[in-house]
Amino acid sequence: MTPKPKPKKTKAIETPWEAVQELGRLTEKTFAGLRLQTQHTELGEIKNGLKMMTPKHKHWHIFVSKLEGPLGCNFRTEDADTPLLWDCEHNHKYATKILGMMGYTPGQIKKTIEYFRQQGGYCDCEVLFNVDKAGREEEEK
Ligand SMILES: [Zn+2]
Repeated sequence: MTPKPKPKKTKAIETPWEAVQELGRLTEKTFAGLRLQTQHTELGEIKNGLKMMTPKHKHWHIFVSKLEGPLGCNFRTEDADTPLLWDCEHNHKYATKILGMMGYTPGQIKKTIEYFRQQGGYCDCEVLFNVDKAGREEEEK
């Protein structure tokens, strides 16, 4: 007489419901991991002051291109003979809007605008003229 095969120790997923539960557990773990990662990055960025938009930020060029473009100061020429035209209301209206679109919180935007002022960027166009320029010169050193 042959012995009955022992029931397998490893729990096989047998029903679709179990599969769903297992998937749920895995997803929960993955999300927990992702959340931890995000927290770490954010903490690191706050520590390093990178949550302010400065020329050292890896997304500075994106911010600058938006601020120069139609969402911001909208730099343009009508033809080759006319000087450069742009919109600026002598405030940080466009920078605030663009930083908001980039996911910055009001507190982070406030800190960033304070930084712009310290660098001579008293309004949107001066951010482009003074802050961006200062950042580029620093990079060339
Ligand atoms: Zn201006």
